[in-house]
Amino acid sequence: MLLNDSGVYVLLIEVPPTAAGSVQVGRLGEHFLPAGPYLYVGSARRGLSKRIARHEARRKQTHWHVDAVTLRAGRIRSWVWPHRPGLECRLARAVVGRGLGQVWVGGCGSSDCSCASHLFRATVSAGRLQRLLCAQATPYRDWRPGEGQSSHEPTKRRPRG
Ligand SMILES: [Zn+2]
Repeated sequence: MLLNDSGVYVLLIEVPPTAAGSVQVGRLGEHFLPAGPYLYVGSARRGLSKRIARHEARRKQTHWHVDAVTLRAGRIRSWVWPHRPGLECRLARAVVGRGLGQVWVGGCGSSDCSCASHLFRATVSAGRLQRLLCAQATPYRDWRPGEGQSSHEPTKRRPRG
């Protein structure tokens, strides 16, 4: 594993109408999962590539709250920022603050911080979220572990190869 395989990430998870329904969200109980786009904010101090591969995996043992949503997902896309202290929670607050989403089930992914949640039901279209994310972060498919670790300009986009 690369030492600097770290970062803060946002998942854009799309739940198709056929997958809407009741889901078990760990100890948070059973909740109705409506169709539509969801945003999840997370971070990995190491093993970022493994983490994202796991989020995007179609089969897995449920471990995190967000698994309840990713297991019902049609499409999952990920964007990454270099790891910086506090960034994960700032992004989570920005989702609500900028009117992009609302808390779906309180406490999802935020057991270790004071945020209401790190998982949100989007209140704008997946297309708009994709454009916003592409303008501010690196699409995971273009991310190379170790790059950008010393960058002081998080909005800078890497040229596509
Ligand atoms: Zn937080």
